[in-house]
Amino acid sequence: MLTVTDLTKTYKTGDKALAEVSLTVPKGQVVGLIGPSGAGKSTLIRCINRLVEPTSGKIALSGAELTGLGPRALRRERRRIGMIFQEYALVERLTVMENVLSGRLGYVSFWQSFTRRFPSADIERAYRLLDRVGLMEHADKRADALSGGQRQRVGIARALSQEPELLLVDEPTASLDPKTSRQIMRLLIEICAERGLPAIVNIHDVPLAQQFMQRIIGLRAGRVVFDGPPEQLTESV
Ligand code: ADP
Ligand code: ADP
Repeated sequence: MLTVTDLTKTYKTGDKALAEVSLTVPKGQVVGLIGPSGAGKSTLIRCINRLVEPTSGKIALSGAELTGLGPRALRRERRRIGMIFQEYALVERLTVMENVLSGRLGYVSFWQSFTRRFPSADIERAYRLLDRVGLMEHADKRADALSGGQRQRVGIARALSQEPELLLVDEPTASLDPKTSRQIMRLLIEICAERGLPAIVNIHDVPLAQQFMQRIIGLRAGRVVFDGPPEQLTESV
């Protein structure tokens, strides 16, 4: 479970991006984060994955604090959070399999890619994940040979390969067509439910969020202005 308590972020420029944001995301739940540009969605995601230092407030994952850590502890704790990106952020020169392994190993060097020496347990896990996202037969293709939807499936498998306790997903379907977007959302939600993984999805597409999410959090000017099931969402958010 993710717990965010009274999170505030004021940038050096004076921009108050978040003001006393509190929320919890239980295991297996996928929350859609919506709000107009500048509402603080990216800042919230970046505070949770600790790319941005909050001004005040607390963030805890399964009871362990992510705030107030030194650099080493921070590196370790960040491994507990899986990230999925709009533009996939795959390494194009590596194969699909190697991209998935890079989630587990942190980094795949050119030499490893050349010699193909990877721990067999990691390879087995990566195959299982590729099977789950429907890419088994594409394991040895280069990432740049895949379609957008397939690349996002690799992105999901890579995030899962680090065995995260939380997924942060930034506009996962913004570069995809509507049909592929629905397939990706469905897959994400199924996987989170299966694994009991909590997830926050920054999602621009409000109808898509309403169709798939169990819960939506609306941000406006750095504050939570809506938190509930999609059917209660009104025009004002
Ligand atoms: P999005 O709507 O996708 O969140 P933004 O246009 O808000 O994108 O921000 C794009 C990038 O610019 C982000 O990296 C954000 O941190 C940065 N950014 C946004 N506003 C400012 C600002 N006022 N000063 C400096 N950087 C900013
Ligand atoms: P969203 O993702 O909802 O578009 P952001 O979190 O990017 O919102 O931005 C929230 C507010 O913080 C905006 O006013 C934006 O200009 C400001 N902001 C974002 N990133 C930075 C930054 N790196 N430096 C200064 N201000 C920023």
